Amino acid sequence: MKVIRTIAELRQELNIMRKNHNNDTSDSRGVVVGLVPTMGYLHRGHASLMQAARQQSDIVVLSIFVNPIQFGPNEDFDSYPRDEERDLAVARAEGVDIVFSPSVEEMYPQPTQTTITVSGITERLCGASRPGHFNGVTTVVSKLFNIVQPQKAFFGMKDAQQVAVIQQMVHDLNMPVDVVPCPIVREEDGLALSSRNVYLSSELRQEALVLSQALRAVQEAVASNTAITAKDIRHILREHISQSVHAVIDYAEIQSFPSLEPLADDEELKAYGDLLIALAVKFGKTRLIDNIRIQKMEVLSRV
Ligand code: AMP
Repeated sequence: MKVIRTIAELRQELNIMRKNHNNDTSDSRGVVVGLVPTMGYLHRGHASLMQAARQQSDIVVLSIFVNPIQFGPNEDFDSYPRDEERDLAVARAEGVDIVFSPSVEEMYPQPTQTTITVSGITERLCGASRPGHFNGVTTVVSKLFNIVQPQKAFFGMKDAQQVAVIQQMVHDLNMPVDVVPCPIVREEDGLALSSRNVYLSSELRQEALVLSQALRAVQEAVASNTAITAKDIRHILREHISQSVHAVIDYAEIQSFPSLEPLADDEELKAYGDLLIALAVKFGKTRLIDNIRIQKMEVLSRV
């Protein structure tokens, strides 16, 4: 596994690897480079993306970059957890070929004057409470796509809105990248894995279970009540989350996916295609997100 810190060296190494693969294979589809973009402090959620990339690509590139431009002024850029040594061990164990771990100066030698903005779907949910966040995400992901030129890129549904935004960007700008969404990986007790979980005290860690519990309650309610409305869902979410004394809800929403149109209160779910039930809740200073998707078939099959 190579650890590379500059864009020039990465391009050079990828050229060599692509050529070697081309010589080794007569596959007419060409060499598939799979990119897994992360901010490091890797956990089993990230590992699942690397595993999907390993299965579906010839060359796996993992990027580790805590991207300053996707953090707001009062957010946790400086304190974001970092542990490169451990990250490299995880990447090695998952069979990654190249770890690209550039400095901020390498990625942004001067303040960037070019940013990528996806409008509409970035204005809701996390976009509403974190202004500028998605511009930072789409800008850095575009840079990574231009630098690595992957055929496939792997993203977790943990950040469902991010998946929708990146799919929109790839579509609108005709980027030749196949965006592969991967399922959320959870702890045994239901908490979705996140690098930010380390911020939680054991008390808040326990309270944070209300997120997955609320989502599970919605899943069960949908399974048993085909006439359930968006208002019922919002009520179930809020009722469960209020069982945590420290939880402060940023949003607890139901919307279409991937268009992220909010559902009116009295709308029945069965009128819709794929839906996303999404939560963002603060526990102390730590803001956690979680979600589930409800697919059209799941609703229809019980009608
Ligand atoms: P991050 O390092 O938090 O920017 O995440 C990098 C990638 O890993 C993103 O595509 C995330 O959606 C994905 N990811 C983070 N946590 C999980 C999880 N629990 N399950 C699946 N994917 C995840």
